[in-house]
Amino acid sequence: MQVASIHFKARAHDGLTDAQLQKNLVKFKTKFVGARKAAIVELDDFEGTRDAGRDIRQRSLDDLDVWLARFEEAATARGATVLFAQTPAEANKLVLDIAARHGVRKIIKSKSMVSEESALDHAIEGAGMAVVETDLGEYILQINNYEPPSHLIGPALHKSKDEVADLFARKHGTPHKDAIEDLTLEARAVLREHYLTADMGISGGNFFVAETGSVVLVTNEGNATLGTTLPKVHVAISGIEKVVPTLEDVATLMRLLPRSATGQSISNYVDILTGTKGEGEFHGVEHMYFVLVDSGRSDVLASDVKEALRCIRCGACMNHCPVYQHVGGHAYGWVYPGPIGSVLTPMYVGLENAPDLPQASTLCNACATVCPVRIPLPELLRKLREHEYTEDLRPWHERAALRMWAWVALRPRLYAWASRQGVRFLRKRADARGMIRKLPFATGWSNGRDMPAPAGRTFRDLYAERTGNGVRS
Ligand code: SF4
Repeated sequence: MQVASIHFKARAHDGLTDAQLQKNLVKFKTKFVGARKAAIVELDDFEGTRDAGRDIRQRSLDDLDVWLARFEEAATARGATVLFAQTPAEANKLVLDIAARHGVRKIIKSKSMVSEESALDHAIEGAGMAVVETDLGEYILQINNYEPPSHLIGPALHKSKDEVADLFARKHGTPHKDAIEDLTLEARAVLREHYLTADMGISGGNFFVAETGSVVLVTNEGNATLGTTLPKVHVAISGIEKVVPTLEDVATLMRLLPRSATGQSISNYVDILTGTKGEGEFHGVEHMYFVLVDSGRSDVLASDVKEALRCIRCGACMNHCPVYQHVGGHAYGWVYPGPIGSVLTPMYVGLENAPDLPQASTLCNACATVCPVRIPLPELLRKLREHEYTEDLRPWHERAALRMWAWVALRPRLYAWASRQGVRFLRKRADARGMIRKLPFATGWSNGRDMPAPAGRTFRDLYAERTGNGVRS
């Protein structure tokens, strides 16, 4: 997928001024946040389960090479073939080679974020084969000229029902429908034909289980179940970091994933697929391949933001992020949006190609508070900001301002005097409502909002007055 993260600010501005998108984004603040809140109380010890989830994912990453080797051994013993790709281009080549080996003409796909990274659909079409996305959200985007996804679990959540209805009527040549049930039935009728005529199914992988060599697929539509069992060939493509040691670990993570993602106790479908069809077995594929992609993950593992690889792609961080809730997922300009995208994207595509993403956060900590595997996202974003500063990737005036602030902050008396001047200055800019409409040097921020003016006295002054033993200087 083409990287457009360098245009974050312009794209965020487009999102903020798009009235329809703003209407469509409300569901994140209401539906998703509320559903998670209601679902997590079902567990006696949700916080303890989060600790366990964090430990499982961290243990997987700490000995990733060992678990990957075990996974390869177990999967191979069950008749599957495990292949490793260093780059997105290599991953595409492996998939195309598999398709060529089995004489494939049509492929059905369920959701795979790694295949978005490598633009696999375009590579498949470029090789003369047909590919059909079967996740409803991905299907909507595919027939809309491969519009990019905007969310980890709901790629087309930025669209309203009416927009989807218009699209279906236009692309399918059918009468416009008003009910969601009718739209899903229409998609089902179109997709069913493809399930029955495809030669190969491609899926992602929520988890790869080292002890059994299995892939775990979590969906709500059942599309992955059909897509990985009806065709004779199944290829599961995902990042190397998705491996976990045992099935019991998956059970723990499954207590967290659907609750954090959609507020469900359990997803409608959880498939655990192990090996090829055995002698006399009715279900299963004849050929099973795993394509495990590095594509920058080893570098992340060796970096100071390695905790980001614990991610189980639930989407909770973006659902709760005030920035994502307002600018939408397309603003982030690549596969992974929201707070986790603001860490992963710069690491995968280069900090210089996504310089505004680590800044796309208020550091309010909402993301870390809801992350089921306790990824300290604000801390990781702060580390990336530090890298940007030390690698001269921020504009000169921003770096000069930071240097000046650091110089003043290291001198407590000067800092106290300067902050007093600052709050007085701001107080004088207040209008009759006590609000500041325009801030010099921060017009980008104050163009879109008014700010309550400070009391005209610093925190130090107020603290000293109230306690009598403050830090007044
Ligand atoms: S960072 Fe945490 S909250 Fe965000 S998608 Fe990943 S697991 Fe979910």
